[in-house]
Amino acid sequence: MTTDLEAVAKKQGIKYFLICFSDICGVQRSKLVPASAIAGMQEDGAGFAGFATYLDMTPAHPDVFAIPDPESLIQLPWKPEVGWVAADPHMYGRPVEHAPRVVLKRAMAKARDMGFAFKSGVEPECFFITPDGNAIADPADTRAKPCYDQQALMRHFDVVAEISGSMESLGWGAYQNDHEDANGQFEMNWNYDDGLKTADRHTFFKFLAKSAAERHGLRVTFMPKPFINLTGNGCHVHLSLWDLQSGKNRMTGDGPLGLSQEALHFAGGLIAHAGDVAAVTNPTVNSYKRINAPRTTSGSTWAPNSVTWAGNNRTHMIRVPGAGRIETRLPDAAADPYLLQASTLLSGLDGIDNRIDPGEPLDIDMYAEGYKVKDAKKLPLNLLDAIRAFENSKTVRRLFGEEFVRGYAKIKTNEWNAYAAHLSNWERQHTLDC
Ligand SMILES: [Mg+2]
Repeated sequence: MTTDLEAVAKKQGIKYFLICFSDICGVQRSKLVPASAIAGMQEDGAGFAGFATYLDMTPAHPDVFAIPDPESLIQLPWKPEVGWVAADPHMYGRPVEHAPRVVLKRAMAKARDMGFAFKSGVEPECFFITPDGNAIADPADTRAKPCYDQQALMRHFDVVAEISGSMESLGWGAYQNDHEDANGQFEMNWNYDDGLKTADRHTFFKFLAKSAAERHGLRVTFMPKPFINLTGNGCHVHLSLWDLQSGKNRMTGDGPLGLSQEALHFAGGLIAHAGDVAAVTNPTVNSYKRINAPRTTSGSTWAPNSVTWAGNNRTHMIRVPGAGRIETRLPDAAADPYLLQASTLLSGLDGIDNRIDPGEPLDIDMYAEGYKVKDAKKLPLNLLDAIRAFENSKTVRRLFGEEFVRGYAKIKTNEWNAYAAHLSNWERQHTLDC
């Protein structure tokens, strides 16, 4: 039975609902709707002008109606009179095919058709910075190897505990928080779950973290590489496939590293399509300053520079931390949570469909000895290369559908052109005297 949002509002003291959808750049777009008007909105959706967001629409298009998914309801822990609901944009009475949550639901349906439940967990890294965005918020956080620094972690206790405590109160299974590898960088973790649920929570997590930081006079950024000499913000994804009938993990098996044949093929798909979907997993101009990057002050970027896989070894794009689970380390924290899950799942399922061989795992330090691996595929060097690979790939078109690829490539190409039109200091310094 569908949850009746009006009844829930009465029972739980919700006075307003945020009806929220993610556009294809991952921006959360919302309307704040009084509980007295939610019954109609639950049925028909909240109206938006699609062109005013990053959806592939013109000003002449009719209204987009964002229909809330009542199962995604989250009552804001810091403002319980507001309920947040993820919504699916509709137009002409049907879902907008290129809207990220709609893309992920299609991918989840494909997994179900193949007999799988897709589960995943994400690790979005972030920095606490000053409100003007120019520096990390804690000037005393200067250690050369700051990872797990207890003192620096505890100086941000109030905000970290508020975020972690909120996730705990929501029943997400919050389980750890730490200072990460860059000065000012943190990670707060919660349990893996169904892929759509994880994407909804990941979306809400960014809202939660930003809101908590603002209340503490800080700002949080998920920008992939906000400081060039420091480790960037990754968003590693841990994923597994479970049998719909038996509930057993279908990725556990007696292949290399405790993986099943299906898991190996899934990894094969991730490897085969990594470069072609990088425009989605690494979606900004800035993303390409995190991957392919020189060593940072901590001694490592912790980001991959080529398409390889290994056991429990963090220098490769894909790590198998234990039997029955795969981690992909390529995505960054700017990736839209829905498109991140969709691209990972679609790439992996295609590997299973086409029995793609991942090749042999490499047990070497890829940062030190990567030059010895001659045949590893390279990742795109910039967003333009990534967009071109994305829109020219027949596989990508088949997996994501023409409408999404067309819209995404168009909006991302506009973004690249806006960046390319910007005259940088570097250009002046290197060209004025030519
Ligand atoms: Mg991390």
